[in-house]
Amino acid sequence: MRTTASRAIPAVVDDARQLFESGVTRSVDSRLGSLRALRTMLLENQRDVELALWSDLRKGPGEAQTAEINVVIAEINHTLRHLRRWMRPQRGPLPLSLRPARASLKAEPLGVVLVIAPWNYPVQLLLAPLVGILAAGNTAVLKPSELTPATSRLMALLVSKYFPDGVVRAVEGGVPETTELLKQRFDHIVFTGSGPVGRIVMRAAAEHLTPVTLELGGKSPAWFDDDDNLHRAARRLAWAKFSNAGQTCVAPDYVMTTPDRVPALVAALRDAIADLWGADPRQSDDYGRIVDQRNFDRLAALIDRDEAVIGGDVDRPSRYIAPRVVVLPESPHPAVGPRADHPMMREEIFGPILPILPVADPREAVAVVNGWDKPLALYVFSSSGRTRRLFEEETSSGALVHNAAIIQVAATGLPFGGVGASGIGSYHGAYSWQAFSHIKPVLDKPLRPDTLRLAQPPYGRLGMALSRRLMRHG
Ligand code: NAD
Repeated sequence: MRTTASRAIPAVVDDARQLFESGVTRSVDSRLGSLRALRTMLLENQRDVELALWSDLRKGPGEAQTAEINVVIAEINHTLRHLRRWMRPQRGPLPLSLRPARASLKAEPLGVVLVIAPWNYPVQLLLAPLVGILAAGNTAVLKPSELTPATSRLMALLVSKYFPDGVVRAVEGGVPETTELLKQRFDHIVFTGSGPVGRIVMRAAAEHLTPVTLELGGKSPAWFDDDDNLHRAARRLAWAKFSNAGQTCVAPDYVMTTPDRVPALVAALRDAIADLWGADPRQSDDYGRIVDQRNFDRLAALIDRDEAVIGGDVDRPSRYIAPRVVVLPESPHPAVGPRADHPMMREEIFGPILPILPVADPREAVAVVNGWDKPLALYVFSSSGRTRRLFEEETSSGALVHNAAIIQVAATGLPFGGVGASGIGSYHGAYSWQAFSHIKPVLDKPLRPDTLRLAQPPYGRLGMALSRRLMRHG
């Protein structure tokens, strides 16, 4: 078995390029073959994937299946179903001035694509982009997160076993290895992680004019005013927030509601948490742990025991933080962002702490959202059509979901990505295939009749008049 993990990084990228240039990844059959190999890799090793996720994040098998393995398999199945259709050359429209002529749009692969993945969904966020990369006929170099070492090791081993031809290779490591990788020339880079590292990646990519897809984070807000559906909404909010111990890029970061609704929402969240993870979530196999000590300490610094209206248990050795709900005081603007009063509102929480921010009404909530960076997601729990439209029309976010949260990740037919500070570009399904392809227009202009003469000197009056009419026609 050939493992690429230990080989020199420039050689790994060179080999991936040579393989791409040999043309073996271009045909539809080879693309379908790679996608099937990826599916087999996951299906034959589900138990090992579950164990690795348990060891790295204490992620239970239920969550490993629904939020990691199944998301990738759904993405593969969707792509297998549609790839031939996506690949069919499309007719390209041509203006009157260029006719007679023919144009078609041909999608071609980009080349070698690098995927740099984070630790929070270390399988999904490494392999879901890979689906589109393979579907588009590229070769790939994967860099799993060093903070989830068991998953990183397993992914590197499986990739070398299921892609012995080297269409997919993995390079393991942390900052030094990623820095070395970023010195190489790639044809596209997909990065999922934090904004600061996203900037490092984009700067390095600029050296080679490499296009990037940046999947970043931010504070994704939620709004609640749906009194008739309080318990359903609270359960969905709690599930979305506290799954993976809150370490989800699209988790609701904080929830806004009016002051009079706060007590009922707190009570409903308490019931929902107990229902989902039991009276003591520490005992639940479905409740995760903070990934490492550094992140635990970052979260611990945000916690003031007296503030919690739900939760409170914290255990440093096991990196356990119980699902925690905090009610913030109504605060002056800016309520969110680096200049916010409350430390919890200054940056993405990325842990199992849910602040409730009381605001006067939906308009004020919109002002809070618009007071800082555009978020990756916005969640609205409201039965008022006017309130729903207000958020749809007056805020901007990677995605907006009514009556639920985080489910957009599983919508294979929709683009997944941020806007502004929450990311650049999007992927999933056809959007992945398109992001990792170059859509090349191919034009064919017959030599006879030679209509181009009209646009060439010497410019006579009649010719100019005719060419002006034709060209302005569009
Ligand atoms: P991170 O930015 O610290 O690390 C991501 C990757 O970058 C890792 O593979 C790491 O090895 C590499 N890296 C770290 N520092 C580097 C450096 N100085 N130079 C080069 N490479 C470096 O992110 P993380 O802590 O793994 O993940 C948390 C963040 O990711 C959160 O902000 C979260 O919102 C975001 N996120 C976004 C999405 C999304 O789909 N938009 C998904 C998950 C996580």
